[in-house]
Amino acid sequence: MDYFPRLIEGGYEGLHFLSDQKTGLRALIGIHSTKLGPALGGTRALTTYDSETAAVTDVIRLSRGMTYKAALAGLKLGGGKSVIVLPKGNFDRGALFEAFGRAVESLKGRYICAEDSGTSPSDMDFILKHTRHVVGLQSKSGDPSPVTAYGVVRGMEAMAKHLWGKADLAGRKVTILGVGHVGYALAGELHKRGAKMVVADVNPQAVQRAVKEFGCSAVSDAELVTQEADIFAPCALGGGINDFTLPLLRVKAVAGAANNQLAEPRHGEALAKRGILYAPDYAINSGGLINCALEVLGYDRKEALERAGKIFDTIDELLRRSKESGQRPEAVADTMVEERLAHG
Ligand code: NAD
Repeated sequence: MDYFPRLIEGGYEGLHFLSDQKTGLRALIGIHSTKLGPALGGTRALTTYDSETAAVTDVIRLSRGMTYKAALAGLKLGGGKSVIVLPKGNFDRGALFEAFGRAVESLKGRYICAEDSGTSPSDMDFILKHTRHVVGLQSKSGDPSPVTAYGVVRGMEAMAKHLWGKADLAGRKVTILGVGHVGYALAGELHKRGAKMVVADVNPQAVQRAVKEFGCSAVSDAELVTQEADIFAPCALGGGINDFTLPLLRVKAVAGAANNQLAEPRHGEALAKRGILYAPDYAINSGGLINCALEVLGYDRKEALERAGKIFDTIDELLRRSKESGQRPEAVADTMVEERLAHG
C-alpha cells in the first residue's frame, strides 16, 4: 500500500511510525495539520487491527477529523491522533506506554496526546513520565464527558431556535441512544431544562440510573429509533444513522455526542431529504476536546464550560448559513473550517 498519495491528497503533514524493540511498541502518530497550533488528539490502543493498513487508515482519518473539530471550536490547535497496535498475549503495559511517551516527546510538542478508546488514566500517567505533551489527566481536567454533554445541549438549544423559534427545550421529547458517560450527563442537562427523555442502552444498569435520577423512560434499542420525538441523540458508538435506522426515524432533528454518527456521508443527504435537521457530530461534540485543550493553557472548569457553551453560536451560525445557501449542515461546517484554516 502506498501511503504518500493519500497523505498528499488529504493535506496531511505527516505520519510517524514509532517502534521499540524492548517493549514491543508499534505506534502510529498521524499529524494532519499544525496550522492553528500543535496537533492534539487521543491515543487509541487496540489489539484488533487486522493489518498495518487498517491502523494507518484509522489514524489518518481520525487525525483529519481532529483538525476540523478544533478549528470549528475556535481552538488554537491542530489535528492529530495516535494508534498503538497492542501486542497479543502478555506484555508490560506500563513499559509500553512509557516507550510511547518517549515517542511523543521525540516530536517536540508538535503532537499532544490524550486518552481515547482502549487507553486509561493510568496509561496517561506512564506517558507523562517522559513527556509533558499529554492532556486530559485525572489530576487536571479529568473526565470530559460533562463538558461534552453541556456543549451538546447548547447545540440542541440552537437547533430548537431554528426549528421552533425559541432556544428552549422545555417539554421537548429527546431520545438518547447510549447513556454512558456523555449520554448520562446529557440526560441530566435535559432534565434540568424540563425536557422528556426516552433512553436505550445495552447496559441495563446505565438505563436504570437514568430512569431513577432523571425520570427517563426506557425502551429497547430497536424501539428507540422508531419513537416519535423532537430530537434523536446518538450517544453510543458511531454509525447510528444508517440504512437500517434512517427509514425508521420519526424525529425533527439528530443531535448527539457520538463520533461518526453517519455510517456513510450519503446518510447526511438522506436525512436532509427526510426533512430531519442534522447537527454535524464534530461541531456539536467538541466540548470534550475543549475541556482537554484548556489544560495546555492552564485548566479552569468555568472557562471550559463557557467555551463549550459557545457551541450554541457555532450551531446557530451553521444552521443559518445552511438555510441561506441551501447547503447541508455538514457541508457548511466544512466550509467554516476551511475559512478558519485559511485565516490562520
Ligand atoms: P461510554 O462508553 O461511556 O458510553 C457509551 C454507552 O453506549 C455505554 O453505556 C454502552 O453500554 C452504550 N452502547 C454501546 N453500544 C450500544 C448499542 N448498540 N446500543 C445501545 N447502547 C449502546 O462512552 P462515552 O464517553 O459516553 O461516549 C459516547 C460517544 O460519544 C462515543 O461515540 C464517543 O466517541 C463520543 N464522544 C465522547 C466524548 C466524551 O467526552 N466522553 C467526547 C466526544 C465524543
